[in-house]
Amino acid sequence: MTLDIPALQADLQAKGIDVLRLIFPDVLGITRSKDLLVSQLHHTKSPMFCQGVWVTTTGGDVLDGNDIMTSGLPDLLTQINPDTLTMMPWEPGVAMVVGDAFNPDHSVSEVAPRSVLQSVIAQYTALGLTPTLGPELEFYIANYDEENGWSRSLSRTGRVYTTGESVDPGGQFLNLMRMLDGMDIGVFAGNHEFSPSQYEINLWHSEALDAADRTFLFKTAVRDIVAHTGKHALFVGKPWDDEGGSGFHLHFSVVDQQGNNIMSDGGQGLSEIANHMIAGILENAGAIAALSNPTVNAYKRLGPDTLAPYRANWGHDNRSAMLRVPPERGAGTRLEIRLGDAAANPYLLIASVLAAGLDGITRSLTAPAPVAGWAYEDNSAPILPMSLSAALDMLDSDTVMRDAMGNTIIDVFSVLKRDEVRRYEDSVADNNTRDVSQWEIDEYFADY
Ligand code: GLU
Ligand code: MG
Ligand code: MG
Repeated sequence: MTLDIPALQADLQAKGIDVLRLIFPDVLGITRSKDLLVSQLHHTKSPMFCQGVWVTTTGGDVLDGNDIMTSGLPDLLTQINPDTLTMMPWEPGVAMVVGDAFNPDHSVSEVAPRSVLQSVIAQYTALGLTPTLGPELEFYIANYDEENGWSRSLSRTGRVYTTGESVDPGGQFLNLMRMLDGMDIGVFAGNHEFSPSQYEINLWHSEALDAADRTFLFKTAVRDIVAHTGKHALFVGKPWDDEGGSGFHLHFSVVDQQGNNIMSDGGQGLSEIANHMIAGILENAGAIAALSNPTVNAYKRLGPDTLAPYRANWGHDNRSAMLRVPPERGAGTRLEIRLGDAAANPYLLIASVLAAGLDGITRSLTAPAPVAGWAYEDNSAPILPMSLSAALDMLDSDTVMRDAMGNTIIDVFSVLKRDEVRRYEDSVADNNTRDVSQWEIDEYFADY
């Protein structure tokens, strides 16, 4: 794509933007960014500068010996994607934009999460289908100081689904909601969650790439807005032993070329295609777990009686199952995949769910019967992988994910994540418990 840089520069200047923050997700899902001075976007000394910015990748050391990124920390070329331009109301004069990453020879990067997602979406497009997604994320607001370490910003028991001063001292959450509103990224509601200082925010549904971009902008913004108040937003799946975890639920439907939702049978039932999608997602649940629960810590969130899933099963309006079918029908017919951990890279989580759903569609897989009642006790359904290494084993051998997402991303993800498991096991003697270790706090809290 060739950008009209003078037009972009004029547009930004007209909006009062003097700094453009180019952000892109690394494989781990961490936001990487470069601040570009708008006054210099169109500069004769550096005519290519505006077309792309060279930034180093992460993890080159652990990928040593792998063909993809051997030694030397090679650059990626990152290109501004003007469709994603987003104001930052808490930082006047600055706007964010999501970048697309390319190899130095300008070919599409097979490790760039956004490109991987685009390639999976293209497989739907080829069938005349458009995946539509609505993300909802949970997170904690925490305090940190050198002396006392990390703590929840509220210590008393949470008031579930109650908003107001008692769960939002000083209106910090309210301010966060207003700032997100000013970004115009489709945030529409939020609430205090089950545990003290845990919140949930919901985003409108839209086409898959747009939904992933908005989620990425959302997570980046929440962390920055909360940091401005001296506190920290934690999108860590299970930060505290004694309180609930934070999920990244994904509402998923498919529309046809006429824009009609094809998930319902026209009445109160589900269509065959919806049944195939459920089957594909359940069949590939282990591999989805790896990509949507990408930390050692995430597996401490999953388990019986937690409202996070434990078994690869589905049910009608059943929050104890991994996949819930909400009661709406017609245009609102959809699946809610409850497996994701708040720390997940939105692009890779979404790509894995889409790949699995497509597998169900293309092979016309049949879903097992929906579970009735407390799905944690549904002995007919397999237990999800309960550690990152078990999930990585399932990902590594999942040919559906490899075919849909490409071997490169799966191999790079797996190498990076096995290194994380090794470092955890080397550092934490008692690494088979579900207690959150100091290693996890040090590894994840500041970055996720
Ligand atoms: N916190 C739960 C999770 O980890 C979800 C609770 C809810 O249903 O909102 O997924
Ligand atoms: Mg929730
Ligand atoms: Mg939900």
